[in-house]
Parts: sequence; structure tokens; C-alpha cells
Amino acid sequence: MNGFSPDGNSEHWQTVGNPEATLNFEAAPGRIYQGPTQKIRSLSEYWFGQAAYCPSCGHLSLDQYPANKPVADFFCSRCGEQFELKSQGRAFGAKVSDGAYRTMIERLMSSTNPNLFLLQYDPHRLAVINLLVIPKYFFIPGLVQQRTPLAQTARRAGWIGCNILLAGIPEVGRIFLIKDQIFQPRQIVHEKWRQTNFLKDQPDIGAKGWLLCVLRCIDRIRSDQFTLEQCYKFEQDIRTAYPNNRHIREKIRQQLQILRDKGYLEFCGRGTYRLVRNHPLEPIRLS
Ligand SMILES: [Zn+2]
Repeated sequence: MNGFSPDGNSEHWQTVGNPEATLNFEAAPGRIYQGPTQKIRSLSEYWFGQAAYCPSCGHLSLDQYPANKPVADFFCSRCGEQFELKSQGRAFGAKVSDGAYRTMIERLMSSTNPNLFLLQYDPHRLAVINLLVIPKYFFIPGLVQQRTPLAQTARRAGWIGCNILLAGIPEVGRIFLIKDQIFQPRQIVHEKWRQTNFLKDQPDIGAKGWLLCVLRCIDRIRSDQFTLEQCYKFEQDIRTAYPNNRHIREKIRQQLQILRDKGYLEFCGRGTYRLVRNHPLEPIRLS
């Protein structure tokens, strides 16, 4: 099929999700659009409903909620995970605008926020370039920025929206299903999703903030193997985020220990750590 994974490997074909999926947007049968904005949104949602799958349990289809449901856009009928879909015709930058600020914070505090899918498409070719998902437990209130209230002249005067600061999401929390127009193997997507479970088990938001902070430092080292000293180089940067904390180095060591205990890192001795890229997995069955 057009736009499908270019390597033509049949084994790969079987592992990337819906075997019928292509990168190209197609119109939903019988759909009439009221203007270009509605059209592109409808096309991207229809494509997503046809091609995306559940990264959590591997279920091959996601169901769409009725329009205007404020909670999420799609859900998995097998495991119950909920997903919000944000689509745009340009690359996603440091932040993305989302719904009402207060609702977002309330949902983060009660852990009822959905997982977030980001879909980047080519607006001229009407085809998908990137599709990634960020598991819900990567979002903490510190990554939600309050926007200026809408002006008195606006239809929803005084309404306060929010931005999600994507720059604060470490690489481990950005799981690509399609990267640079190439479908990623479904098994790998699922493994990466499972690898983030260590964060799910961390109920305390403050503790989670520290973990995310140290994970971002590890990203910046850009090596699978690194030393404690390399982590300490970010001490000043971390102090900007936590100006009242006088034990930054101790906190760094503590986070590394948590990451090691969760199987995300291994300790190689002499203050050296290594990222565990492939967890040994018990057999999993994907439908
Ligand atoms: Zn599922």
C-alpha cells in the first residue's frame, strides 16, 4: 500500500500495527466538511482511528469518544487507557497548547489525565510524518503553563488555557509509533511503553519531578554510559529549578538509585552508570 514502511520486509509488516495502515490521510466515507480547519482535523482523526493502536496492551484499534467529550479523544476497549490526540502541520516544539488550565491541573493531581498522542503531518501531501505518544504519568503540574486569560472581546472572555511544556519530557517518555515516515515495530513500541512503568509507580508528584529532572540531565549527556561526575555538572541548572534545595548532589544520587532499583539503569562500579536499553521481557502476546 502507498506510503507504508518502505523496507518491504514482510516480518516488519506484521509487527507495525494495522497491516492496512498507510501514511496517507483519506477522507472518512460520506463526510462533508465545513471549511479547511474542520477538514484537516477530521482527516487526521480518521487516519488515527484507522492506523493507531494501543501502545499499552497492543490492541489493534482505538475507539473514538463522541465529539466534544472534554476528557479524551480515544480509548482502548481492551485495557481502558485513554488518549488525547493533538495534530499539527508543523513539528512539535517546546510547548503545545491544551485545554483549560484549572481542569488540567485537577486531572493531573487526581491522575485522571489521558496519555498524549502527537501527530505531525505534511499539510501539502496530507500524510503523516511523525506519531508519538507520551504516557500520562510523565505530566506533572510543573510542566503545565498557565496562559493569559482571553480578552474581554473574545467569545470566551476570561477563559484561561494552558500550554504543556514538552521540553520537560525526557526522551524515554517520547515513544514513536512512526518516526520520519517509518513505522516502528509494534513490539518495540510496547517494550518502550513498559519501560516507562517505573514512573507510574511513583505516586508523589514532587518525587516524580526530581526523577524527570535527572532523566533530562541523563538525556543531555547523550551516552548510554555516564558517571556521577557528569551528572553533577548539571548541579547549577537543577538549582534554578529547585532554588531552596541545599542538597542537590544528594538528590541526584537518590534519583540514580531509584532508577537503578527500577531497572532503568545499572551500576557498573566506580561511579559509573549504564542505561538498560532492553529489559528482559516475559513473553507477551499482542493481538
Ligand atoms: Zn490497550
